[in-house]
Amino acid sequence: MYESVKNQLHAVKDELPDGVELVAISKYHPAEAIAAAYEEGQRIFGESHEQELSRKHATLPQDIEWHFIGHLQTNKVKYIAPYISMIEAADSPKLLREINKQALKNNRRIDVLLELHLAEEATKYGFSPEDCRRFLDEGEWRQMQGVRICGLMMMASNTDDEAQIASEFEQAHQLFKEYQSAYFADEPSFCRRSWGMSHDYQLAVAHGSNMVRVGTRIFGERAY
Ligand SMILES: *Cc1c(COP(=O)(O)O)cnc(C)c1O
Repeated sequence: MYESVKNQLHAVKDELPDGVELVAISKYHPAEAIAAAYEEGQRIFGESHEQELSRKHATLPQDIEWHFIGHLQTNKVKYIAPYISMIEAADSPKLLREINKQALKNNRRIDVLLELHLAEEATKYGFSPEDCRRFLDEGEWRQMQGVRICGLMMMASNTDDEAQIASEFEQAHQLFKEYQSAYFADEPSFCRRSWGMSHDYQLAVAHGSNMVRVGTRIFGERAY
């Protein structure tokens, strides 16, 4: 069962340079497909809906590291706070405050990435570069003992224009370097650059990504 998942997983892994982490995006795919990838050694999986994630978390092996990759509503944080490994799309100060609160309730420190909005689409969530800089500058996050900011995440514009996508990845990489030296020079845990999906992860790696989020290429098309 799920031979193609296993084969595709290895094909993707073989293409990734050392040091690039693979997050297998399993949203809308059944637990059996995840189990197949798990059997091949994959441990990091990404989901974007709280209820679906909670169901899968309850039935699948407990050493899976779950990443929440979608827009997270503040009222859902409490359900995933006990076990989530990383919240990749921290997109507002309000959400970060809630993650902090729920992490402390669980005696945890939760790893997060700040989501940047660099794409052309108006619908995507995330901090603009200016808002992100302002948030880091104001320093409230330094008091958040329940949150560890581990880097940046972004989604490129939904376009076939490779030059456009590459320039957005490059912009994210430059912002990462800027924030790293300005705010995280003493914090080696600020090291993650999460960009690149099935159709553009190689381009992303060429432009500084060290965490790719690949779904379709591993699991096939999603049945919504
Ligand atoms: C669904 C999703 C992915 C994976 O997309 P694929 O094209 O299937 O690889 C990556 N990142 C985010 C934020 C997603 O929602």
